[in-house]
Amino acid sequence: MFSSCWIKTIRHISVSPRILRFYSSDSPFFKVEVVSSERKVQAKKSVAPRFEKKHRQKISDYLKQMATPEIEAQLAPLRAAVKEYGDLIRDLKAKKAPKIDIDKAVVELKARKRRLEETEIALAPKEASFDRLKLEDLLKRRFFYDQSFAIYGGVTGLYDFGPMGCSLKANMLQEWRKHFILEEGMLEVDCTSLTPEPVLKASGHVDRFADWMVKDVKNGECFRADHLIKNSIEKLMNDKKVSAEMKKDGEDALARLEGFDDKDMHEVITRFKFKSPITGNDLTEPIAFNLMFPTQIGPTGDFKAFLRPETAQGIFVNFKRLLEFNQGKLPFAAAQIGLGFRNEISPRQGLIRVREFTMCEIEHFVDPEDKSFPKFAKIADQKLVLFSACNQLDGAPAREVAIGEAVANKTVANETLGYYMARCHQFLMKVGVDGRRLRFRQHLSNEMAHYAQDCWDAEILTSYGWIECVGNADRACYDLQQHFKATNVKLVAEKKLPQPIDVNVVEAQANMALLGKSFKKDSKKIQTALQQLTSEQVTALEEELLSKQIYNLDINGENYPLTPDLLNIKKYSKKLHVQEITPSVIEPSYGIGRIMYALLEHSFRQREGDEQRTFLAFKPLVAPIKCSILPISANETLVPVMEAVKEELARYELSYKVDDSSGTIGRRYARTDEIGIPFGITVDFDSDKTTPHTVTIRHAETMSQIRLPISELGRLISDLVAGRQQWSDAEAKWPKFEANAE
Ligand code: AMP
Repeated sequence: MFSSCWIKTIRHISVSPRILRFYSSDSPFFKVEVVSSERKVQAKKSVAPRFEKKHRQKISDYLKQMATPEIEAQLAPLRAAVKEYGDLIRDLKAKKAPKIDIDKAVVELKARKRRLEETEIALAPKEASFDRLKLEDLLKRRFFYDQSFAIYGGVTGLYDFGPMGCSLKANMLQEWRKHFILEEGMLEVDCTSLTPEPVLKASGHVDRFADWMVKDVKNGECFRADHLIKNSIEKLMNDKKVSAEMKKDGEDALARLEGFDDKDMHEVITRFKFKSPITGNDLTEPIAFNLMFPTQIGPTGDFKAFLRPETAQGIFVNFKRLLEFNQGKLPFAAAQIGLGFRNEISPRQGLIRVREFTMCEIEHFVDPEDKSFPKFAKIADQKLVLFSACNQLDGAPAREVAIGEAVANKTVANETLGYYMARCHQFLMKVGVDGRRLRFRQHLSNEMAHYAQDCWDAEILTSYGWIECVGNADRACYDLQQHFKATNVKLVAEKKLPQPIDVNVVEAQANMALLGKSFKKDSKKIQTALQQLTSEQVTALEEELLSKQIYNLDINGENYPLTPDLLNIKKYSKKLHVQEITPSVIEPSYGIGRIMYALLEHSFRQREGDEQRTFLAFKPLVAPIKCSILPISANETLVPVMEAVKEELARYELSYKVDDSSGTIGRRYARTDEIGIPFGITVDFDSDKTTPHTVTIRHAETMSQIRLPISELGRLISDLVAGRQQWSDAEAKWPKFEANAE
């Protein structure tokens, strides 16, 4: 199959249709050969109209990203051949060689470039020619999601989900809940989005949750500094006038960008003379911009708060209750699904960078000295594509490795982190992310927070490049310790000692009657703070009381002067059977919107031979609507069969959409394919003539159809949705139905 516009194009360039032949290889692209009487000639010119320059560049860029070793092996010599002649021409020009020599070399360079491009086109996988505008048009038209407040002009970084988007998201969340919370026995919490300032001060967000921003010096327009540098360098790389040396410099800066601070960014912006991409004006030095939305709780305006930038803090502040719920035992994991809010500087990439988004976060609390995972053996052989820090620094490609091997050789820090990476991979595959476009990238040491021990982002390749969709981090004991420091509430677990030990205890006991007189309502707070002092702290307190007759107790910056009469220092020895430990935290953090966007790109298809017919090939598990019901005609006789189909689907809790509009059946199939309905049930004139009554099911992705009794519909479709059966199983079991051409 090939489109008629193609043939027109070829005729246009005066090739007789009789000497044309089309064939398709594994590649999605048709090759065209012009058969002459002497020999077959590759019709280079005929390829060009379909792949204009911008498109060819897109394919070339995509292949650079994908870099599968097989493709690379074929492209590398061709790239080297192009480079050889590029260098030669530069050399000839520098030596002021005769024009004829330069012209000859240019002809050869062009021929080599053409060879490279043609090979790239032939080798490119289908997705390389993905058309984002077409997908965006579909998503808007069929209201998966669209910009919020559009009738008021819209707000960047805010999106409303329509019926299809809502359902897709709900199905993804349902699977996430099942895959993690249910199957791993996690404790779910649902905490508030409004978060008091001291909580986020303790977590470090008030001081450090910021991105570097540069401003246009004339009109004040803001840009995220690292994004501006990345885009400017990428532009520079495609600029023929830029020297090879400068490009190399740019490439180096790009590789180190993740670890840049404000000074590094300023240095690069100044050295490369980067300007505002909109106006060409100069830019300010990078300024830190905190991404949290500030607000106040209550009418006075005194109680400062923020909309939470992540859900994790809600879990940490509830640690004591959760530990108690888990009978005081480690390890255990808590999870939360909810909104996170980040005031992104200049969000421009659709769902990928938004200001309000659904997060699914897990905090797995574990003994810092034993991060083994009981079920690790179950996933140890699972292979993941790992892009380790070493590979990144060496410029080597990502490598597929069994997670067991990666943990054993310490590429991945520990079993618990490795387990969550493997489960993350399983989840992403289940919901329909293309495994060839998924990798785990390790953070470089300068990207990680100082306390983090290891961090691997699940990155998915989209038309925006590799996008971080899930962060998997070993955050050590940082979060719980910070909240302990801020509140004086011990956030610890007890670990049984191999043998009991004797310890000397020194305690400062408050004289509550006197304390109450001096400090009134604060006396309880002082008593709690005294109880939380370590033996060493009490010894220091005692020494100070003896020498100065006063001890200044600090509670969250407030000073309480204590005199010897208010305290009683008790010393005794006791047998300890347990040791208190602050658990380490392994944190997988999922951004559902980003995964959803990647999924939409990976599911987007065009019918071969008819590029206007686009559709979404969702995994049935997450498809917003599982079935369509299409009566072949409006004839009354079909109504009872339709009702029977609806009842059967309802019994199995399968969602459906009836399309009984007057369009042809082909047009109605196309409409339901567009919104990713995987199964189309057609009620035709044979339906009520057969005993038992039968209908056809059409599989949207392959367009193949089978016929089966209505009473079998529900079980089959729910099996297909749950992945207990594949469409090929259904085809093997039920008679094929040969439909009229769609
Ligand atoms: P982080 O806490 O920055 O590691 O983010 C956790 C996850 O949230 C990321 O892996 C993304 O999937 C998602 N995420 C972070 N920022 C945004 C954003 N501005 N828009 C959409 N998703 C985001």
